[in-house]
Amino acid sequence: MSAPAPATATAVVADVPTQALTLDIDAIRAQIPALHQQVNGRPLVYLDNGATSLKPQVVIDALLDYYTGCCANVHRGVHSLSQRATTLLEQARVTVQQHIGAPELAECIFVRGVTEGINLIAQTWGARHIGAGDEVLISAMEHHSNIVPWQVLCDRVGATLKVIPFDESGTLDMAAFTALLSPKTKLVSVGHVSNALGTVHPVERIIAAAHAVGAKVLIDGAQAIPHGRVDVSELGCDFYVFSGHKVYAPTGIGVLWGRRELLEAGGHWHGGGDMIRRVTFEETTYAELPGLLEAGTPHIAGIIGLGAALTWFNELGLDAVAAHEQDLLAYGTQLLSEIDGVRMIGTAANKAGVLGFVLDDHIGAHPSDVGMLLDQQGIAVRTGHHCAEPVMDQFGVPGTVRASLAVYNNRADLDALAAGVRKAIGMLS
Ligand code: PLP
Repeated sequence: MSAPAPATATAVVADVPTQALTLDIDAIRAQIPALHQQVNGRPLVYLDNGATSLKPQVVIDALLDYYTGCCANVHRGVHSLSQRATTLLEQARVTVQQHIGAPELAECIFVRGVTEGINLIAQTWGARHIGAGDEVLISAMEHHSNIVPWQVLCDRVGATLKVIPFDESGTLDMAAFTALLSPKTKLVSVGHVSNALGTVHPVERIIAAAHAVGAKVLIDGAQAIPHGRVDVSELGCDFYVFSGHKVYAPTGIGVLWGRRELLEAGGHWHGGGDMIRRVTFEETTYAELPGLLEAGTPHIAGIIGLGAALTWFNELGLDAVAAHEQDLLAYGTQLLSEIDGVRMIGTAANKAGVLGFVLDDHIGAHPSDVGMLLDQQGIAVRTGHHCAEPVMDQFGVPGTVRASLAVYNNRADLDALAAGVRKAIGMLS
């Protein structure tokens, strides 16, 4: 597996004894309706969890219950349905707070997902606190949603975007990172786990080093939250964002956590209902957090669904989830590595959730050819650049085939993947 897991802040690669943490995967699979279907005449093997996860029945039920039982707007109704919906929504916020160890409930802001959360910080705290001559530091392994918002901000204010390089295994160059840090660095914004390569970054070290030069740290947790335990208080970061749909919740809902003083210092973002205290034509005064950053009717059903998803996920046991997925990762890596013609992309020592590969040049196949041949066998994987084009550029490939794991996957899924890849190579050669 990996280097020993750092203290407790994140256990996406927990160094835990698997025998003590066995999950009943069949029972978990039974709770995921979408798994039980045929695709192209074959039983579905779903290995595109990095893109989005399939949903447990309890999450689907939570949506149905909201729409059939208490479908009403929140926060401003005196009638019973509105109050019930408000209670459910605010309960979900408590679930989020507990799930990520946020010090304060009001610091947990509902957003559409990571993309919106990062843009929100760039356009509020970033716009007020990053200026001409300042620097924003990201890694070369970021998802586009952790690149473009900072490019836009830097262009606008005259700041400079700097990039931490990584080596051929997909491991961040920490010496280069340290050298890039300076008093000019106002923000370090990095992924917790790379979506393209699966690398788990040493975020605790990154946070400590960034804080030592006075920079704030934003962690993109899109690919970390679904794979184990994350505690923002223990991590000590300043902002943490994740998308619900990757952690068994509905699409269109996610969470931005930020330290109260920083969110307040960033001020309001979208203007509209719910984010105000009082509006007159002469002057508007603003609401406290979290309302300040949640203008308009929220995705009520999605928030309730997110609460249900996190509750379900927690009850599985997050260390057990991490241990199970580490077992699958090791098993799948071995199976794929043994196949003639497969080149693994992303071989860092510390990984979570992602098996990426390309076929050797002599086979002459584009990753999407492999993806289509796998789909014909009922196997869902993602192919392409995974919204991380700079990563593909560094490896000199147009894209990769990416199989990505969830708790409901099992070794049989990886056996099917390996057999499918062998068959695809046979057809392409
Ligand atoms: N960051 C990472 C690491 C991701 O994997 C993704 C989605 O794949 C995102 C950000 C963007 O998430 P969303 O599209 O849910 O906003």
